[in-house]
Amino acid sequence: MDLTFTAEDEQFRARVSAWLDENRPTSRLLPPTTPEGFRQHLDWERRLFEAGFAAPGWPEEFGGLGLDLWGETVFDEEYVARRLPERLNKMALIHGARTVMAHGTAEQKARWLPGVLDCSDIWCQGFSEPGAGSDLAAIRTTGRIEGDEIVLDGQKTWTSNGAIATRMYALIRTDPRASKHRGISFVVFDLDIDGVEIRPMRQLHGNSGFAEVFFTGARIPVSSVVGGLGDGWRVAQTALKLERGASRGSHTRLKGHLDGLVTVVDQAGADRALTERLGALRSWVYAYVQSTYALTDTVARGGDEGVAASINKLRSTELQTAIGELRLEILGAAGPVVDELGPAGELGGFHRDYWHGRAAEIFAGTSEIQKNIIAERGLGLPREPTA
Ligand SMILES: Cc1cc2nc3c(=O)[nH]c(=O)nc-3n(C[C@H](O)[C@H](O)[C@H](O)COP(=O)(O)OP(=O)(O)OC[C@H]3O[C@@H](n4cnc5c(N)ncnc54)[C@H](O)[C@@H]3O)c2cc1C
Repeated sequence: MDLTFTAEDEQFRARVSAWLDENRPTSRLLPPTTPEGFRQHLDWERRLFEAGFAAPGWPEEFGGLGLDLWGETVFDEEYVARRLPERLNKMALIHGARTVMAHGTAEQKARWLPGVLDCSDIWCQGFSEPGAGSDLAAIRTTGRIEGDEIVLDGQKTWTSNGAIATRMYALIRTDPRASKHRGISFVVFDLDIDGVEIRPMRQLHGNSGFAEVFFTGARIPVSSVVGGLGDGWRVAQTALKLERGASRGSHTRLKGHLDGLVTVVDQAGADRALTERLGALRSWVYAYVQSTYALTDTVARGGDEGVAASINKLRSTELQTAIGELRLEILGAAGPVVDELGPAGELGGFHRDYWHGRAAEIFAGTSEIQKNIIAERGLGLPREPTA
């Protein structure tokens, strides 16, 4: 196992750093759910695309730089260290389109992949439904086959970027008589069709990052199915694994949070107990960085990350929460007001990070679900009883 970057990686780092420093937006962008914010994000994405940095880890045949996971990690580290805007098409870049690369036909790849990198198409993920989150195979949205069309009826929820997306990748039930995990299909389709209603969900911070998406007799072609009718559960495992395993610079983000905490502790005047707690967090963050690199090395060598992806996801969310809680504990009542507010009343840096940590305990599989995976698949403990 080699946990260091090569000279080639470092050359790429120098190139990326120079470009980002020269081209980064000069002020924080408005939320992409506002018309002006969307234009700003699109502008930034197009600049990344034109420079060839839209997806460094994608194969060259699909417009990427063909870098391995180490190269991608270099890009993510530099991007995250500068606190640059969240990627507009992250649902496609990280998992949706990559699942199509793994399971789609040549025709599907040619149809769907080109619009991802320049954001001509913005993707969202339609997996969760009311009543189907952790128990994803309980989905009830149906896809009735009629000739060469599939007729959709049902509802998705918690759809990130649903309010701005033009395309969805989703799980639907195409054979209601089959057992729970069978009869599910994985489909990709455009959202601007009859029978699709998108209702943005306004959140505490005032923006609508989520949407509910309703289907009432919406018709999509059978050629929307990826990996074969009824084989969607298998295809979905690729998407879930990519989503869960994606570190996307979270180790760099955590190091930034820790630096912020050190400043707060310094200003507060650290006593011995506080210094010890800070020291413990620092060593956990260091261990997390190393375990991220170990995972990177495994994947870059073509290996399977296995339960290590779950361990890493769990660790990163726990650390994010622990750092945030200690910071709040030190600052007390002043905690919620010390950050500057972002544009349009958006929460400032620290609070975004803190609440993002709480959300991370839920999305891409809750912390409890990660613990189940680690216990059952990693430690070989008995499976939990099912009804
Ligand atoms: C910020 C954010 C973005 C999201 N984006 C998307 C998106 O773009 N597309 C999409 O499809 N979904 C998205 N989701 C939904 C997310 O995948 C689900 O919220 C998540 O899978 C949990 O499902 P649930 O909300 O139905 O909770 P439930 O599954 O009902 O869980 C409720 C509680 O019970 C616990 N629990 C459930 N089952 C078990 C078990 N077997 N053992 C132990 N504990 C258990 C859970 O850990 C949780 O604490 C997003 C969620 C968040 C917070």
